[in-house]
Amino acid sequence: MKRVLNFIDGEFRPPCSGRYIPDVDPATGQVIAEIAESGPADVDAAVAAASRAFESWRKTPAEERSRLLLRVAELIEENFDELARLESEDNGKPIALSRRMDVPRAVLNFRFFATAILHAETRAHMTDDRALNYTLRAPLGVAGLISPWNLPLYLLTWKIAPAVAAGNCCVAKPSELTPLTADRLAALTVEAGIPPGVINIVHGPGASAGRALTSHPKVPLISFTGGTKTGADVMACAGPLFKKVSLELGGKNPNIVFADADLEQAVATSIQSSFSNQGEICLCGSRLFVERAIYDEFLARFVDATKKLRIGDPQDSSTDVGALVSEPHLRKVEGYVELAKEEGGAILAGGNRPADLPQRVRGGYFLEPTVITGLDCARRVMQEEIFGPVVTVTPFDSPDEAIAYANGTRYGLSASVWTRDLQNAHRVAAALDSGTVWVNTWLLRDLRVPFGGMKESGVGREGGFDSLQFFTEAKNVCIKL
Ligand code: NAD
Repeated sequence: MKRVLNFIDGEFRPPCSGRYIPDVDPATGQVIAEIAESGPADVDAAVAAASRAFESWRKTPAEERSRLLLRVAELIEENFDELARLESEDNGKPIALSRRMDVPRAVLNFRFFATAILHAETRAHMTDDRALNYTLRAPLGVAGLISPWNLPLYLLTWKIAPAVAAGNCCVAKPSELTPLTADRLAALTVEAGIPPGVINIVHGPGASAGRALTSHPKVPLISFTGGTKTGADVMACAGPLFKKVSLELGGKNPNIVFADADLEQAVATSIQSSFSNQGEICLCGSRLFVERAIYDEFLARFVDATKKLRIGDPQDSSTDVGALVSEPHLRKVEGYVELAKEEGGAILAGGNRPADLPQRVRGGYFLEPTVITGLDCARRVMQEEIFGPVVTVTPFDSPDEAIAYANGTRYGLSASVWTRDLQNAHRVAAALDSGTVWVNTWLLRDLRVPFGGMKESGVGREGGFDSLQFFTEAKNVCIKL
């Protein structure tokens, strides 16, 4: 059986504990690999290797760092099919999605930041004729990078690429549920010629390996993507050590459809935003609000399109909806469907485990895409992040009511608005408590824009120069004239 080892100082090493945890293919329920069960001693070794490597990496010219990272991008492309398959096996996502989204984005993350550092600028301020101030930006040292299971390679590289491009070394801790593409990436960084210790990857549970990183005194910076509850623990560990912290957390994103929207587009994209990756994307629109004048028609079309989605073997390229990431997660999501019934909701589509799956995946963790109506916005199903193929649909009567519903949760990650009225679009976008607002689209990403959440969806912004600022520290130099 494949053993996923830690990647420290340019080599693969077994965990100090000598213990391994199983890695399960969620489509079959079968164990496909064993993962290093790491803890503080492994993190210590990785941080020491990263600290050593930092001394020369920080001095490596940007052009050389850029060249090496562009080579990593090329190697990801050269290994495209294998990475897409590994991602799908590990996470349960349709292979078509890992080919369309996960792997191309990993390539882009490296290309984007490898070239961004060639365009970085710093500022100067003249203080009348008395002084010249200029700003130096320098990497901090060892970056601790913690990522979740839903977009494993996509989000891991979204952290590694800017951290290392900016001149830091890193210790990354991928999700213990989806370690396979991180493991493959580690080997590709060797092939690309990234010096030992610049990129280290430690596997294992969040409570041991993750926490050892967030509470490590020699890791001055933490970039974390994951659940809001975990984010609070990361903050609690990092706070007393005054680490620089960026948190990308959960969401309960509204998707608002006005009566003047292009209905066909709104339905088609809302199907994507509700059920892509089995609803396991932090940016999925899990609360649909539809203006009453078109509510019945929208709902009929939306339910019809939901029922047409093909649930099946993630390795089959025609599959739209694959398996949820794990059995406990499936049970959690099913629990919310039951709760919706108790709270008075009506299930218009889905709600069950699919009956007629192909033989190979009958032991997998599948749930039909589920549409719920009739719930009050204060209900738990409409307040808590479910993170599965479950969406609620609610009518509204005015823009103000839609805004109040949309803003009525503790989250504020992203939102979509569907309208052909430009003034309405601007007004609603400005009023939403949300780090990103998409108008007449969803998940259209330009890597230069600030990305992050409001309220309990996160702290800080990454993306473009915001990422490079996060991964460097500013220093003011003031020269008397
Ligand atoms: P999670 O919080 O359980 O785990 C995320 C990572 O943190 C994993 O690597 C895990 O091992 C680690 N971890 C767990 N406990 C830890 C601790 N105490 N200290 C340090 N590390 C710890 O999240 P998940 O279940 O893997 O991912 C799903 C969540 O991630 C959802 O809430 C989703 O909305 C969120 N998410 C947010 C974004 C975003 O950009 N805002 C993107 C993707 C996912």
